[in-house]
Amino acid sequence: MPIYEYTCEKCDKKFEMLVMGKDRPACPACGNVRVKRLLSACGFVSKGSGGETVSASAGASSCSGCSASSCASCGV
Ligand SMILES: [Zn+2]
Repeated sequence: MPIYEYTCEKCDKKFEMLVMGKDRPACPACGNVRVKRLLSACGFVSKGSGGETVSASAGASSCSGCSASSCASCGV
């Protein structure tokens, strides 16, 4: 099973979680379940190589680091 990276929409915390099937990940910091899944092939790879959390706001409007047609973090 792959481990996905998520960004909490409430507190912008980025975390990794192994999610099975329909399980909904929750933010470990605030318990919020409104989290955004990040794909490793997209966005923050080029922006946040140091583990920064810039991807949360940057990925919300556009994804300059991704030209794919199926990007979960930029919604394209
Ligand atoms: Zn949170």
